[in-house]
Amino acid sequence: MYIAGIDIGGTNLKFGVFDDGLELVYSRVIRSVRADTLASARQIKNLIAQSPFAPSVIGAGVPGAVFRPSGRVNSGNLRWAGVSFGETLEKETGLKVWLDNDAQAALAAETLPGGSCHGLETAVYLTLGTGVGGALLIGGKPWRGHDNAGAELGHFITHAGGMRCGCGQKGCFEMYASAGALSRCAGGVRARVALDRAREGDEAMKKALDRYARELAVGLCSLYMVFRPQAIVLGGGVSAGGDMLLESVLSHVPSAYNYDAGVMRGVLRIASRQNEAGMLGAAVLAKMHLSAPEP
Ligand SMILES: [Zn+2]
Repeated sequence: MYIAGIDIGGTNLKFGVFDDGLELVYSRVIRSVRADTLASARQIKNLIAQSPFAPSVIGAGVPGAVFRPSGRVNSGNLRWAGVSFGETLEKETGLKVWLDNDAQAALAAETLPGGSCHGLETAVYLTLGTGVGGALLIGGKPWRGHDNAGAELGHFITHAGGMRCGCGQKGCFEMYASAGALSRCAGGVRARVALDRAREGDEAMKKALDRYARELAVGLCSLYMVFRPQAIVLGGGVSAGGDMLLESVLSHVPSAYNYDAGVMRGVLRIASRQNEAGMLGAAVLAKMHLSAPEP
């Protein structure tokens, strides 16, 4: 049995096919279509048709809230409001679909053996990409809120009256911690390029990374205060900054009554699965939920 694992981002759509042992056997990356859910479902239908391995179920992660049991999805990055994308995708492909939040999917991948959250009881997972996604592991299980739309860690507010966010609020963490925020600190240079140049020693880009890391540290320290997790894991495009990013964040961690930079050094880590996490996690969740009847 093959499983399609799809990571629908605000910029790219990553399509993977996994075998029964969750090994990636085929993958493609294409540009995402925003706003038009039917066009997005048809993109996926075409990718399945082109794959040499025919999947029998689909798992898909989206950057937004997936409500259960309604199946409706809100995504600022994809400009979706209350859409039933899972239904549309099932109709187009004729396959069963498990739709979920992209960070929840990535967390599912990180809890597999070899992943950064494997065996942990409490962890906070953040994707730092086009937006900022979040997922929580509490008591060794994902915590999703009463309607599955919880753990939207990109949309807790770090700046009262701050920048307007796509979610409708002002001052969300996402506006200061996404790849776009890093790019803004770097005067418009793309986040990946800014990271590369900072690593090469470019002084302006090192300063940009420092400004960005200061904002990131504000959110990470608050999350540590709330959840006191064993790990705070950074995934998504900005996590390509690796140790340089972690060191920059740690330089902005204050000493508080129950943590300091030393404590945070033991907690903060980069996701073990970078580009594949979203696809793999979506496949894991599809395998988990679609191979047996739902409870
Ligand atoms: Zn927001």
